[in-house]
Amino acid sequence: MNYEVNPFWDYESITIDELKDQANSLLNLVTEEQRPLRVCMNNGKEFLLFPQDLLAPICDSDFRLILLSATRYAMGRNTCMPVVVSDYIKRHIRLLDDKFLVLAADDIRRYLEDYAEHEPNSNLWQSLLGVLETEQRARATREARKIRPCPACGKPLEIMSIADSWHSPGGFDVIAHCRNCLADYEWFYDKDGGTSDMKQYFFG
Ligand SMILES: [Zn+2]
Repeated sequence: MNYEVNPFWDYESITIDELKDQANSLLNLVTEEQRPLRVCMNNGKEFLLFPQDLLAPICDSDFRLILLSATRYAMGRNTCMPVVVSDYIKRHIRLLDDKFLVLAADDIRRYLEDYAEHEPNSNLWQSLLGVLETEQRARATREARKIRPCPACGKPLEIMSIADSWHSPGGFDVIAHCRNCLADYEWFYDKDGGTSDMKQYFFG
């Protein structure tokens, strides 16, 4: 985190035992009176109890557009903004949605294609683009790893390999095994999240 001060320090702090003993009244405090609480656990970790509204500014779909405008504004500038924007996106990338990743990567890619030679911070944008693409890739693989049932017996298949797809650029070829039927199946997963039908796979 890059907060100048911890923004949660103003919140009242309670222990997990207090929360257990006084759950109802404490939850009332949070929901009715909109007073977030820091809950300190015995292992030293903390979590927050707060009304959902607190997250509204970043869960708002316009937040994505605001970040994109900041990115567009920062490209081509030789001020502190490129570092601020790119570090912010890298720091919080796990919380930014898929749509943002696609839009931001497209913007930067297009910008670098046209203006890379005039860009004072070309490495910074290359590196941000790399981080966005890696995250997209990681999320897509995670999706492709989702377990599918065996078409013959319905038992969950075991994924044996996920490789870059031959027929579907940006997608994956998946091979999985059914322990029950002792059969292997293949399918592909395209980059937009579509999954093909399964075919039996024979090791050649
Ligand atoms: Zn089976």
